[in-house]
Amino acid sequence: MEMLKKKIIQEGIVLSDSVLKVDSFLNHQIDPELMLEIGKEFSNRFAGKGITKILTVESSGIAPAVMTGLHMNIPVIFARKRKSMTLINDLLTANVISFTKNETNEISVANKYISQNDTVLIIDDFLANGQAALGLIEIVNQAKASIAGVGIVIEKAFQDGGKLLRNQGMVVESLASITSLEEGKVSFETVKAPEVMK
Ligand code: 5GP
Repeated sequence: MEMLKKKIIQEGIVLSDSVLKVDSFLNHQIDPELMLEIGKEFSNRFAGKGITKILTVESSGIAPAVMTGLHMNIPVIFARKRKSMTLINDLLTANVISFTKNETNEISVANKYISQNDTVLIIDDFLANGQAALGLIEIVNQAKASIAGVGIVIEKAFQDGGKLLRNQGMVVESLASITSLEEGKVSFETVKAPEVMK
């Protein structure tokens, strides 16, 4: 997705060989126009799969997930990381090791929002080692619902998450795929041009 790549090149800050900061448009300040395009792109890529719900995890997955839900005209659920006074009983829960914070969070969703009749699309902002996505998959499995796939805004293809999920047969669509953050530079996966027929 060119608009996203351009934004990453212009505004992304490489914090280390494994962490990219995109606080100016995705993780703190949000660019609504870009989110709208991201939502449209996910909606196109997962069209015709009978998706009934979108599931993400707070907080940075919410913006792209809501815009996708808007395009698909379906509800969006975000798993909560903190215990809430209003979210106590009948929970689907999973443990997730946070890549950026190096802590384990129990994420939870009220079980009334996902049923076995649902087909769920999982959305998140980044894919690193796949822990957040695996936690969300675990929650959908607990509800005995189906999973249509995983939509990721920025995949760091040099980390293990993408391989882990695809090896399980999961459909993973990422809108930008980064192959390296070495030497302070963002390198993207290049899409091979189709061979010209003679
Ligand atoms: P995973 O669970 O796949 O290891 O990591 C994904 C989660 O960690 C995402 O939800 C995202 O919030 C955070 N994350 C992973 N890598 C990065 C990164 O390079 N930059 C930012 N801003 N967040 C990241």
